Amino acid sequence: MEKRELTCIMCPLGCHLEVTIDGDNISVTGNNCGRGVIFAKEEVTCPKRIVTSSVKTERGVRACKTSQPVPKSMIFDVMKEIEKLRLKNAKYGEVVIKNVLNTGADIVITANE
Ligand code: SF4
Repeated sequence: MEKRELTCIMCPLGCHLEVTIDGDNISVTGNNCGRGVIFAKEEVTCPKRIVTSSVKTERGVRACKTSQPVPKSMIFDVMKEIEKLRLKNAKYGEVVIKNVLNTGADIVITANE
């Protein structure tokens, strides 16, 4: 049996979670809502994060991020895909890579010039 302590990052409340892992059984306490259980179970089995970066364009760089969290193990590969881009320009909200590396997440521009 393994015990882990986590802070839920699904909302600003930041509940302190205690996770007990016993084989396939994962129990969670300390959560104020069901999202904390989902977060904790995902965090101990397949942790995911939003990736933020910047895309090079002819006029400079534009901030971007993934449209949804991607597995932590793929963050550097996703960053490499973003680094390969050389765009003429990019507008706020534009999808510049669809379904990056089959993660289900798009790379979206998050700032104008
Ligand atoms: S468990 Fe629910 S209330 Fe607590 S931080 Fe997570 S999302 Fe917010």
